[in-house]
Amino acid sequence: MSPPRRVLVRGAGVAGLACAVALAEAGATVTLAEAGPTIGSGASWKAGGMLGPWCEAETAPAGLVELALPALDWWRRQVPATRSAGTLVLALSRDGGELARYARRTEGHRTLDAGQLDALEPAFEGRFGRALFYPGEAHLDPRAALPALAHRLRALGGVVLTGRPDIPDGRFDDVVDCRGHAAREVLPGLRGVRGEMLLLRAPGVGLSRPVRLLHPRTPVYVVPRDDDVFMVGATMIESEERGPPRLRSMMELMGAAYALHPGFGEAEILEFAADLRPAFGDNMPRVVRDGATLHVNGMFRHGFLLAPVLAGQVVDAVLGGGSEPPAALVPLSRMR
Ligand SMILES: Cc1cc2nc3c(=O)[nH]c(=O)nc-3n(C[C@H](O)[C@H](O)[C@H](O)COP(=O)(O)OP(=O)(O)OC[C@H]3O[C@@H](n4cnc5c(N)ncnc54)[C@H](O)[C@@H]3O)c2cc1C
Repeated sequence: MSPPRRVLVRGAGVAGLACAVALAEAGATVTLAEAGPTIGSGASWKAGGMLGPWCEAETAPAGLVELALPALDWWRRQVPATRSAGTLVLALSRDGGELARYARRTEGHRTLDAGQLDALEPAFEGRFGRALFYPGEAHLDPRAALPALAHRLRALGGVVLTGRPDIPDGRFDDVVDCRGHAAREVLPGLRGVRGEMLLLRAPGVGLSRPVRLLHPRTPVYVVPRDDDVFMVGATMIESEERGPPRLRSMMELMGAAYALHPGFGEAEILEFAADLRPAFGDNMPRVVRDGATLHVNGMFRHGFLLAPVLAGQVVDAVLGGGSEPPAALVPLSRMR
């Protein structure tokens, strides 16, 4: 019997952690090296944690729903706290046309009238006349899910190193590069798309599922977490600037949250932050082969939604087992 393959995974965001766990589950000996002081030092820590393939399909290339669906079960298995409560989509009365347009552009939903909405989410009682409900969607808290994956990796015998940008490739059979935006020098066409977010504590609100509030210019979503905490996100700015969030963006996010529910008026502001979503030109991810290195990148708005699927492709590429080469595996030479 040949010895287990030794794999180095660089970057402990959602891509790196999902690949590391999937490889370790498939029998590889995995070392996960993160440059930052903790796991989740990049975009993944700022994410909303929505697992919403039907809603995301509104703006994503065709095929996203089919690609992403297996990921929902993967998360439920890895992180039992994943909540399968669906997603609500709402619009203020002046933006009612947005709701109709969104319904036409997406699948997997049903329309709720005011009574059905109030029964499903009593926090909205009497506030909205109509909503779209996507019952198959789910959500998780990235700040609980990423440590849960690191814990799982250690339990499988994997090693997690932090503060280590510099581990040499030499003693490993394979390297999986999951450095997110930091890999832009080696991945032609990779860019950063800035996203700003807020964390609020609002005991007076009591929502139990993600809510997307449509707006012609600045759609906003609110994702509930434990202890009355809500993640409010997110801007989408074609900029690679990493500095702190801007006042205009924060005003838009806060204004939308307050329009959704007046209880947000009394919320404590716990945190605001910005980071870069790594993306290719078509906003779809790639697994790119460069000799013994596989690059897993470009997950744009869909890191939590798609990382488990790409991790499966990496397992096939490193350990074999897939009947055919994974469709998304691209030689680096074809990226230039
Ligand atoms: C505000 C916001 C909200 C979002 N909401 C959602 C959502 O609800 N659902 C969803 O699916 N997606 C969401 N996303 C998108 C998601 O966060 C990204 O797609 C995902 O985080 C990309 O993951 P990654 O692991 O590729 O990159 P990152 O999370 O950036 O991880 C890369 C890691 O590599 C490390 N690194 C860098 N250089 C090195 C090196 N030399 N050696 C080792 N490590 C290195 C970094 O420190 C970092 O920890 C959101 C993004 C933002 C910004």
